[in-house]
Amino acid sequence: MSTSFLYHTSGLTGYQYLKTIYKNGQVYFYVRKNPGKLRCPDCDSHQLILKGTKTRMFNSLPIGKKQIILVVLIQRVRCKVCQSLKQIKLDFANPKKRYTRSFARYAQELSEHMTIQDVACHLNVSWDTVKEIQKAHLLKHFSKPRLTDLKQIAIDEISIGKRHRYLTVVLDLKTGAVVFVGDGKGSYSLKPFWKKLKRAKANIEAVAIDMSPAYIAAVRSNLPGVVIVFDHFHIIKLFNEKLTNLRRKLYHEITHYQQCEALKGIRWILLKNPENLDESKHEKERLQKALDLNKPLAIAYYLKEDLRQLWKQKNKQQAETVLVQRELDK
Ligand SMILES: [Zn+2]
Repeated sequence: MSTSFLYHTSGLTGYQYLKTIYKNGQVYFYVRKNPGKLRCPDCDSHQLILKGTKTRMFNSLPIGKKQIILVVLIQRVRCKVCQSLKQIKLDFANPKKRYTRSFARYAQELSEHMTIQDVACHLNVSWDTVKEIQKAHLLKHFSKPRLTDLKQIAIDEISIGKRHRYLTVVLDLKTGAVVFVGDGKGSYSLKPFWKKLKRAKANIEAVAIDMSPAYIAAVRSNLPGVVIVFDHFHIIKLFNEKLTNLRRKLYHEITHYQQCEALKGIRWILLKNPENLDESKHEKERLQKALDLNKPLAIAYYLKEDLRQLWKQKNKQQAETVLVQRELDK
């Protein structure tokens, strides 16, 4: 077997092929570094005294369904120049890994098309190994996202698990990519992000946040002059809470039996978008009845619908026209 075959199949440079052993359906290639290419790992000198070898095995790219194991005789050397006594460096695998870099690359490429379990089965390695390869890939390519080109971002918090642990997430609204994850919630968790943003000299145009005063203050002081956008979801959520409270208040205040009956069990109907009302459950009719009998509820309900319409407009000017039109209709 030639040196160039080893290079092209396993990414090994300067290695000698020693022998092949076939065992339990697996193929073992024995190799060692070409003695002429040995260098001191500390000072790169080639004036070395050989101090024995250690054998290590690595998963290499399979040939068809055949698993290929590289058995590498790793030379230990004493350097005559710097006196260090070490094993020579391996340039085809990452430290402490039992697979070659080309094997990891192949597993990663397969992972983009199948589940971890499928890849593990196909390559005859454990689920954990494939997961480890994926993690390393993600860490290498996505742990330091480029912030320089950021223009529009969204900031929101999410809760993790049942222990009320929070993460604050920053998204690039153009690509949808997560560009920062801060521990905890509120303005404190964003501190490292503002630093990174400053270093990257990003020119942010707009930030979408919920209406919490802490976020508003944090954005105002770190990105002065930037447009703050309250997103649709948070505003409608807030309005829905008001609507729910109003219904409850009315329910407890009114004494008229019919009005009271009409308000029963319509909480979720009030919050639904009208186009999603269930005809089979007569939701439309029940809503209409409740609104007809309770004027304050009807006003609040139609205000919500007006508010929703705002997000369907193409631009600010059109939204203003719609608002004015509604005002005139009343
Ligand atoms: Zn040395």
